Amino acid sequence: LAAPSKDQLQKVAEQAHAKFKDDKSGKNADYIPALAKVPSELFGIVIITKDGDVIKVGDVDTPFSIQSCSKVFTMCLVMQESGDKIVYDKVNVEPTGEAFNSITAIEEGDGRADNPFVNAGAIATVSLIKAKSPEERWDKIHKTYEKFAGSKLIVMPDIFKSEADTNFRNRGIAHVLFNSGNLFCDPLEATEVYTKQCSVGVTAEQLAVMGSTLANGGVNPITKEKCIDKKYVPKVLATMTMNGFYDGSGQWAWNAGLPAKTGVGGGIVAVVPGELTIVGFAPPLDTYGNSVRAQKAIEFIASELDLNIFGST
Ligand code: GLU
Repeated sequence: LAAPSKDQLQKVAEQAHAKFKDDKSGKNADYIPALAKVPSELFGIVIITKDGDVIKVGDVDTPFSIQSCSKVFTMCLVMQESGDKIVYDKVNVEPTGEAFNSITAIEEGDGRADNPFVNAGAIATVSLIKAKSPEERWDKIHKTYEKFAGSKLIVMPDIFKSEADTNFRNRGIAHVLFNSGNLFCDPLEATEVYTKQCSVGVTAEQLAVMGSTLANGGVNPITKEKCIDKKYVPKVLATMTMNGFYDGSGQWAWNAGLPAKTGVGGGIVAVVPGELTIVGFAPPLDTYGNSVRAQKAIEFIASELDLNIFGST
């Protein structure tokens, strides 16, 4: 199948935006109080190809918190630093079929966190970073995200404070993991650094550059900088396919057929391997915690352009 042209991509992205911009379904996350205040009508779509073409429609320059889309890039950092086996062995790569912040999922199995994209697994992944202090742990994450984005990124102070003041459940998860030997640094340090990574502000365009690096074999197509070895990229994309939408991952694979990761800030980053990335951003979420309009927009674009990875026709 020929790769879609820049004009085709622009046209379909505009159609998707027009089709779903007035869709009011879903609700902003409110368990992190600051997220409830983000304007619900924001809606942006960005596509970036492996050649570095950038297609933008709507609110693509408004920073929002990256939230769980961050989990992908911390996994990349750990793989690049220590190999892929450590993630497979110490965190595991199995879907939980449970909510993103499930505690029962870690009680049911062998004590491991299940996969790097549920909260438990993401906190465990943070704890696998080689670091002698919380500052060093955070610094490695921050530098990694900036490399993937090819631009400066900052923590959104209101989001961080709001989440840090209320993240008792994540602190609980970290302690349960630590108690069973499945968290590899101090549990409060892991939770604090994880909370910070979730509070990093990105625009839809910056998140798309991050995703496009995975669509381009680990090399940022804008800056040309290598961010992760090519051999790890299929494993990252496989994990996104199996776990990117929590207990909604099966439906997403069925509907869109693309590796993707969502965040409760309203962002979704989807990857067409070897081709392009599509980012949707709109704050209102469905009951699984995934952006409604971003899902619909990406599904529409994938279907119009025949991008489903399971549908090679
Ligand atoms: N920081 C959020 C949390 O830990 C991330 C959840 C998400 O984006 O799905 O609850």
